[in-house]
Amino acid sequence: MADDKKLTTRAADFSAWYNEVVLRAELADYSPVRGSMVIRPNGYGIWERMQRTLDDMFKETGHQNAYFPLLIPESFLQKEKEHVEGFSHEFAVVTHGGGKKLDEPLIIRPTSETIIYHMFAKWVQSYRDLPILMNQWANVVRWEMRTRLFLRTLEFLWQEGHTAHATHDEAEEEARKMLGVYRDFMEGWMAMPVVTGQKTNSERFAGALRTYTCEAMMQDNKALQAGTSHNLGQNFSKVFDLKFQTESGGEDYAWNTSWGVSTRLIGGLVMTHGDDSGLRTPPLLAPIEIVIVPIYRSDEERATVLEAADKIISDLREWERRGPGALRIHIDRRDGMKPGAKYYEWEMRGIPLRMEIGPRDLQNNQCVLVRRDTREKLTVSLDSVAEEAAEILQRIQDDMVEVARDRRENNSKRGKISYDDFKALMDGPGGFVYAGFCGSDECEAQIKEETKATIRCLPDEEFQSAEAPTKCLKCGKPSQSEAVWAKAY
Ligand SMILES: [Zn+2]
Repeated sequence: MADDKKLTTRAADFSAWYNEVVLRAELADYSPVRGSMVIRPNGYGIWERMQRTLDDMFKETGHQNAYFPLLIPESFLQKEKEHVEGFSHEFAVVTHGGGKKLDEPLIIRPTSETIIYHMFAKWVQSYRDLPILMNQWANVVRWEMRTRLFLRTLEFLWQEGHTAHATHDEAEEEARKMLGVYRDFMEGWMAMPVVTGQKTNSERFAGALRTYTCEAMMQDNKALQAGTSHNLGQNFSKVFDLKFQTESGGEDYAWNTSWGVSTRLIGGLVMTHGDDSGLRTPPLLAPIEIVIVPIYRSDEERATVLEAADKIISDLREWERRGPGALRIHIDRRDGMKPGAKYYEWEMRGIPLRMEIGPRDLQNNQCVLVRRDTREKLTVSLDSVAEEAAEILQRIQDDMVEVARDRRENNSKRGKISYDDFKALMDGPGGFVYAGFCGSDECEAQIKEETKATIRCLPDEEFQSAEAPTKCLKCGKPSQSEAVWAKAY
């Protein structure tokens, strides 16, 4: 693809637009193995910032990191019936090692509940050993048939939190707490607002008692399941014999939770914020927040402008902002390339703020700042550039989440809706529909069959409508709870 070719627009073909942005912003590339991908430095830089932030949040809530092996004995995965049914069609199996057939095949982890709870069982004797609050950063493999860069790949990077508790209520509190951590991260750092709630039985994690989810709306009005947190009950502890002596001297099985987010979040970031010129990155996650593009005609001007730019950089770096660490700045020193071509490239890569500086600006002791999100141009004095740039970055961060929230609410439908109107909506523009739900698996399955939409969640109280529908969207029986319907990735 020629680099000067215009991006496909979102309106023309959202899916093609997405792939082009991921490739041309150099976030990722296709690998020689079908369905797996290479994460390039621009994409990995975003992931590293996500990872660092989340890791701090996990530790602040009392969790420690550990690492468990990639290979899991097949018999482990067979133990929990629902779990194996949920994952077995996606297994990658190792049958040979060192040139010999193995006695027992090994599964490349699709998720690590089985091996982790096997180990917990070894480490837990009494209630004093609880709770265990652990997290691991790892790669997992799920043999998906239809793959998309970042959204669904054979191998992906993620974190999986795993905990063990003495009571159901403690496990429940933990599962809810980590859902809250995810939500804070998605809204505060990714500028991606989410609706939180509980999954129905059919969408629940294989082997869980209850699954909670963060659902974000992408710009094509489809939902992205961005992170989930599960109360696993005692399902795994019973099959892995994860028992403990209770305070009163009896014996009980531990209560587990697990929770995870993955590199899928990068796909969510692209589809939440990208525009027809490429990526827009929220400043808090941008590996580069400010790019300086020097403007000059002669060698002499070049020397003067670059010297001034270096001075600005050292001012910016010294600027102690209240936020996280020093400003991340890059100066584009490439010679023989027109400023316009540089702008185009940095816009594609989604750098939040561009600084243009030329000889005339220097004479006036000023520079021009251009916001990537709104394209607004601001002329700023060089005496206060650091302070102003830091403030503008904060404003960009705040505005991006507001824009995304407004878009979501404008494409959410609440209140009464007939099933015919619902079908037409899902056939057309899509969006989130808050509808009445009788709670029956049949209604849910029928609607899914007829419209391809699924229940994203039974929303938490703060997302529920002031006047929720009283009847089921499908059968008209009394509604048990409101349900958020959407087509999803
Ligand atoms: Zn119904």
